[in-house]
Amino acid sequence: MNSCYKVRACCNTAGCAYTDHIDIIQTINHESSFSFSMFMNALGDREGAETCPVCGQPLHYYPVTNIAEPTYH
Ligand SMILES: [Zn+2]
Repeated sequence: MNSCYKVRACCNTAGCAYTDHIDIIQTINHESSFSFSMFMNALGDREGAETCPVCGQPLHYYPVTNIAEPTYH
């Protein structure tokens, strides 16, 4: 399996013009991505959390899974 698990962040604030989704970290599995996202969302605007460069609100974190193209030998 060549799956790639990541945590991304985006701005969830209504009306905000910032639409980028940023890769934050790569993890070993979906559970890690999920718990890291929960952890970072729980941080809110405290130290360590990324904030939106447009509206200044804490970014919303979410887990992503990229399934790589299967390779056949
Ligand atoms: Zn924003």
